[in-house]
Amino acid sequence: MIISIASGKGGTGKTLVATSLALSLKERDSVQLLDCDVEEPDAHVLLKPTITHTEAVSIPVPKVDEDKCTYCGKCAEVCAYNAMAVMKQKVLVFAELCHGCGACSYLCPEKAISEEAKEIGVVESGYAGGVGFVQGRLAIGEAMAPPIIRQVKEHASHEGTVIIDVSPGTSCPVVESVKDSDFCLLVTEPTPFGLNDLALAVDMVNELEVPCGVVINRDGAGDSKVEEYCLGQGIPILLRIPLDVEIARLYSQGITLLEGMPQWRETFVRLYSDIEQRVSIGMKTGDK
Ligand code: SF4
Ligand code: SF4
Repeated sequence: MIISIASGKGGTGKTLVATSLALSLKERDSVQLLDCDVEEPDAHVLLKPTITHTEAVSIPVPKVDEDKCTYCGKCAEVCAYNAMAVMKQKVLVFAELCHGCGACSYLCPEKAISEEAKEIGVVESGYAGGVGFVQGRLAIGEAMAPPIIRQVKEHASHEGTVIIDVSPGTSCPVVESVKDSDFCLLVTEPTPFGLNDLALAVDMVNELEVPCGVVINRDGAGDSKVEEYCLGQGIPILLRIPLDVEIARLYSQGITLLEGMPQWRETFVRLYSDIEQRVSIGMKTGDK
């Protein structure tokens, strides 16, 4: 089963939930944590994994043979990302904008475009205690997160449980991370900002047809608008984590919740069972 852990905004406790859920399952199941927050992966700070394998991630970017080029402008025309510009006697390629889609080389009438690999980041894999660990890292100055996320997800095991730590927001990297999940946990906080971003995240998972549930972090700190919203939308609140100085202290010191407060293990095991049940009911009714 693949469970993605997302949140409409950063700093809501998404990684706290992802690492706690992964660690709570390691004794009963084979479990992997995939950190797909490739711009700022931070699960490793808590899990302190041993990395055993590193692989580069590249995308194909165009290389123009100006001896063949007639400066017709077709490549710049077809590029949806403005990654090419054709001047009178020069073709410019803005590699940092290129998505590696191949349209320009495919459609160049003179076959003047070849492709060369451009490294945009790495995928690192290993283990942390009994948890399989994979994370992507986007190289500094690069903007193309989805190819790295896809490569991280290729490491997902087909057995056991896969927990995906998703980047905050609702943009392309989030969609790439959440799609194909069996369930998405949306972590929020009970504030007007939390509600606003939660609503956007709910729209996204609904669009992807991924069932979801909510975790309210720092429960007790704000108002009841998130609860009212969830009730109105029929979205289950599966866990509440109270506003607690000790939880914040552990997190700031890079100590996992289950290590610092092992009494939380059972709560996360129950959370998993709840999700498992919801997914299996959804599969039976075809309501995914
Ligand atoms: S499409 Fe091909 S021939 Fe036309 S400007 Fe681009 S590289 Fe040159
Ligand atoms: S590969 Fe795609 S994104 Fe990159 S320059 Fe060509 S058309 Fe644009």
